[in-house]
Amino acid sequence: MHEAELLFSEASQYLRPEDISQLKNAYSFGQGAHSGQYRKSGEPYISHPLAVARILGQLHMDAPTLTAALLHDVVEDTHISKEEISERFGAPVAELVDGVSKLDKIQFQTQVEAQAENFRKMLLAMARDVRVILIKLADRLHNMQTLQVMRSEKQRSIARETLEIYAPIAHRLGLNKIYQELQELGFRYLHPLRYRVLVKATKAARGNRREVVGKIQDAISNKLKDADLEAQVYGREKHIYSIYKKMVEKQLTFSEVLDIYGFRVIVNDVPSCYVALGALHSLYRPIPGKFKDYIAIPKQNGYQSLHSTLLGPFGIPIETQIRTQEMHRISENGVASHWLYKSTDTDLGDLNMKTNQWLQSLLEILSDSADSKEFLEHLKFDLFPGDVYVFTPQGKILTLPRQSTAVDFAYAIHSDIGNCCVAAKINGENAPLRSELKNGDRVEIITAPYAKPNPSWLSYVVTGRARSHIRHFLKTIQFDESVELGERMLNQALLALNVEPALIDKAQWEKLVRDSGAKSREALLADLALGKQLPAVIAKRLTSPLESINSEQVPHDPITILGTEGLTVQFAKCCHPIPGDVIVGLIKKEHGLVIHTHNCPVVTQSQKNPENCLDVTWGKDITRTFGVKIKIVAANRHGVLARIASAIAKTESNIDDVAMESEKDYTAMGFVLQVRNRHHLAQVIRDLRRIKDVAKITRI
Ligand code: MN
Repeated sequence: MHEAELLFSEASQYLRPEDISQLKNAYSFGQGAHSGQYRKSGEPYISHPLAVARILGQLHMDAPTLTAALLHDVVEDTHISKEEISERFGAPVAELVDGVSKLDKIQFQTQVEAQAENFRKMLLAMARDVRVILIKLADRLHNMQTLQVMRSEKQRSIARETLEIYAPIAHRLGLNKIYQELQELGFRYLHPLRYRVLVKATKAARGNRREVVGKIQDAISNKLKDADLEAQVYGREKHIYSIYKKMVEKQLTFSEVLDIYGFRVIVNDVPSCYVALGALHSLYRPIPGKFKDYIAIPKQNGYQSLHSTLLGPFGIPIETQIRTQEMHRISENGVASHWLYKSTDTDLGDLNMKTNQWLQSLLEILSDSADSKEFLEHLKFDLFPGDVYVFTPQGKILTLPRQSTAVDFAYAIHSDIGNCCVAAKINGENAPLRSELKNGDRVEIITAPYAKPNPSWLSYVVTGRARSHIRHFLKTIQFDESVELGERMLNQALLALNVEPALIDKAQWEKLVRDSGAKSREALLADLALGKQLPAVIAKRLTSPLESINSEQVPHDPITILGTEGLTVQFAKCCHPIPGDVIVGLIKKEHGLVIHTHNCPVVTQSQKNPENCLDVTWGKDITRTFGVKIKIVAANRHGVLARIASAIAKTESNIDDVAMESEKDYTAMGFVLQVRNRHHLAQVIRDLRRIKDVAKITRI
């Protein structure tokens, strides 16, 4: 068959011969399975999966993706089972086919209110394997390309769904070519009359424009040549749908929209982009405010280019895009360009696949229990480069980095909202500010006029914007906190020298402040807390004229740690101390007081400089939770991870981080958990020991 031969020869340009023979097997297997089934057009059914595979082949997708594309309707429409596909073509292909079949079962509602829900479902599926979405989009594209055989009512509903759901997803993934084609076809079938009128008008107008376009194109090419640049210049034809959208959104007439000319310049490297920009700006005057540097600041979907609008001959506006070949490839194929088949990347692929399977099994086992969803929120989806899409109460979509919290969201809206936020509502329910946002969440921030940023926010915000606003705010209040802690540290050092702090008089203080060059007594105390000065040294200098009041040891209390000290007290990431542990405070230059467990190697090291060590103890009634690291070794048995996860969730502990390392029969998992204290940790470990396949648990 002609089409099939085309697929094999296109794919053989970048796949290995053994991949091609797998494709051939999948093709004839699919052909057999679908035999006797026909499309509405009368063609044998296999022509559809074949066309879908070719679309993906043009994106240079890997062999499992193309194989799965050939088989994507087999499980749904024939008697073939997932197991059979797995046996014949391997588990990865079977998982992809299964993913596409499951996606087909998701009912999309096309009302605007349901938009968030649609995105959430789609993106959750995507998190499992982005290739599933790519197959689905190619499937939809081919169905749109062959829509003319459908009844007009059916055409319209499929077209609407395409415009409202699939085209935006293609856009988010940066798959511009597919995005534009889906839009164009969607518009054509949703508004057939408007489409026909615009096509006709555009055709007529293009005839008149051809001469102008040619002139401008020549002028640009010559100017770039003068600048010694190797460049390709293209006139950009506007798509019908984008003309229509501009007319509607910007209330322009047809000729106003069409009178904007578009050109694209492709050069060899990034510096040349800027040289080309300079050349164009000297050819035609740039319109102020119309320059955008998406090279320095790429769009969230990875798009890069320089955009500038110029004033051409006769005052014609000219929109230019300047980019490199590589940027062009990404702008056309988006996420797929990261997935391009590279034989050297098999290791990476393997890793992704493992993570995939793990998530997959979790999803399956836990999909009906309420805990599972909570657990999944804490997992990192490393499969998709890192953004989450969330909604404002008005339905506007915000893109935030993965693991962003409600606080990040608040600052993303406005710094005033961030500085005054006290609580959040996520999907209509009250949620703590530290809640990590998930795709599709609808987030509302509750503010109070006298609220202030809390230092603990810094431990979980992920956006630079939130971080810098909080830091800025805290700088002022941090000083007061530092003074207070510094005083406690100094008092302890004085007591260690058998000096009663209250006995130090004003004159001694004034002399010390003068000698040390500090601005004030408060500034000096703050320096102590921040580790810039040592309490023992300052205590000595304060007391040097005094002799000890009595030679008896004055019992002194250790400094109490409450966990609410803010920036001045930190908990060491090496040993993760939790309430109940015996702890030691180390003064670290520029960092302030860092709390370690007494047996941490860092402490043993530091005991050479005892003046850096501080006697500390946990306060009573600590309410916050602390991170702790545990290692679990478990047998590689089906579902064991899910059982561990749900056991942890049941003890009211949160998972901050998971790392895994698999051996043949066993998997070692490193968890960072949030616990209240040693007692809570003991309870978590006790519950985990009850799981049959868990071999060993240790705190690290
Ligand atoms: Mn299909």
